[in-house]
Amino acid sequence: MENCIFCKIVQGIIPSQKVYEDDLVFAFKDIHPQRPVHILVIPKRHITSLAHVSVEDEPVLGRILAVANQLAVEQGSPGGFRVIINTGTIGGQEVPHLHAHVVGGSEPVGPMLKRQ
Ligand code: 5GP
Ligand code: ZN
Repeated sequence: MENCIFCKIVQGIIPSQKVYEDDLVFAFKDIHPQRPVHILVIPKRHITSLAHVSVEDEPVLGRILAVANQLAVEQGSPGGFRVIINTGTIGGQEVPHLHAHVVGGSEPVGPMLKRQ
């Protein structure tokens, strides 16, 4: 999709620190890491958000979750990790190309949400 920064990262037009790629997904380090390990796993094909998926997207959604543990262990979070998929305005999604944040490190990542 034109003008999508994550599509441009998949295509190599915008550089990234790639950590994994297969036929369905692409994974790279977040440019502003929130924890020592902070990887973004995205579908290679443009999907705007989790609110835009259909039945044919189920394989790529499964793959995103399936590689999360492998990437977390490889990148330095062998004791567990958290996967976050911000969706839409309410979910705080800033980049409109579906992405799973995989965050972790050697310390617990903290409470799931801060109290409002
Ligand atoms: P969101 O708020 O949409 O769930 O998260 C978007 C994430 O993408 C943010 O954590 C942000 O740091 C990351 N990000 C935005 N632009 C770029 C970029 O050009 N390269 C990389 N590696 N990460 C980016
Ligand atoms: Zn895109």
